[in-house]
Amino acid sequence: MRKKRIFKTILGVSLLVLMTVPIFTRPSYVEAVSNANTLGELKKELANYKAQREKALSNKNQTQSQINASRNSIAVAKTEIDNNRKKIEDSKKEIEKLDKEIEETDQKIKDLMVAKQLSEGDNHYLEYIFGATSISDFIIRTSMSEQLASYNDDLITSFEEKIEENKQLQADLAKREKDLDKQILDLEAAIDSLGNKVDAFSEEALKFEDEIKSTQELVNFYTKQGCKDNEALTTCVKVVSDTGFARPLKKGVRTSNYGYRWHPTQGVYKLHNGVDIGGNAEGTPVYSIAKGMVGKIIRKSSCGGNMVYIYHTVNGVQYTSTYMHLLHIKDGLKVGDMVDSTTQIGTVGGGASTSSRYGGYDTCTTGAHLHLSLAKGWYGKTYVSYSSWIANLLDPGLKQYVNIPGYGKYFYSRTW
Ligand SMILES: [Zn+2]
Repeated sequence: MRKKRIFKTILGVSLLVLMTVPIFTRPSYVEAVSNANTLGELKKELANYKAQREKALSNKNQTQSQINASRNSIAVAKTEIDNNRKKIEDSKKEIEKLDKEIEETDQKIKDLMVAKQLSEGDNHYLEYIFGATSISDFIIRTSMSEQLASYNDDLITSFEEKIEENKQLQADLAKREKDLDKQILDLEAAIDSLGNKVDAFSEEALKFEDEIKSTQELVNFYTKQGCKDNEALTTCVKVVSDTGFARPLKKGVRTSNYGYRWHPTQGVYKLHNGVDIGGNAEGTPVYSIAKGMVGKIIRKSSCGGNMVYIYHTVNGVQYTSTYMHLLHIKDGLKVGDMVDSTTQIGTVGGGASTSSRYGGYDTCTTGAHLHLSLAKGWYGKTYVSYSSWIANLLDPGLKQYVNIPGYGKYFYSRTW
């Protein structure tokens, strides 16, 4: 009777697993790539990143100043164009005025010529026009009218010269406007390419910002661990040694194996980098699988959710255990904390509370479960790259490690 019920449960769970296979791919955070062997070298790396960020920022500011200067030059050129256009307008009016004066002066000359001709002929205007009282008076007056005509002639010539000057001025100003237009175009093109440079420098500074942040975290970690500047990073951290692993949950059932599999949603053949343990509701306590130290905490990753990494030394060998899709990370748990197998590090999540299937942030889980990974070495300390972690992964279900029973089989204790 009991056996039948268990069989039915297993069948039910298996069907559930088929519908909601939890998945895991690369977490969406950036790993620092460090080549430092000692804390001193790590500090140098940090200083170097900071210097490079400062340089990028200074380049950015310098380029921004060049952009501002170019914008000012454009504004100056545009003002000059406006002023020159006003000058052209004034010059055109001046020409109009001169034309009118020429016309008027021309009329005066014509009048004088008529008067002169009349004065030379037998005409009753003779006496009237110049009011000559004698011949000599007449001669004086005639000569005066000639002088006046000549003066007006000169006046017209000077007006015409002024018109020519104005026309020349207008031509010069038009040419100047062409030159300024070209200058503005060149400046705008320069601003465009400088703008791209500013963007590139900003991006560079931001990149170093990330490096600085993660390297600073490492420096803080090793300093807190009491590492000396000249001490090897691989040996200065003292993690309490243990003799074996316990299971991370009081009960559970393996719902997915470590190893290559067809990805349930991506349709590709890829590594599932741990085992999935189902059979627990969200909120069920999750424990460290051995004595160790919290090495890394990642919150709300878009693939993996809340994650805790713990460094162990078991029988002289270094390991990193990883717990993913946690609903909550235990309050106050932080990097550098010493833990043992009785320490609760968080609770099971990955279901309706966190899965993106139900509107949550974790796209790599479709049902409540714990994803447990175990790797050799300390991921983030003895090596930093994701590919190294993958290369060092172990199947934590194997007997010599955590002893999670085979696919679909339940366990009911943390020890075995
Ligand atoms: Zn998994």
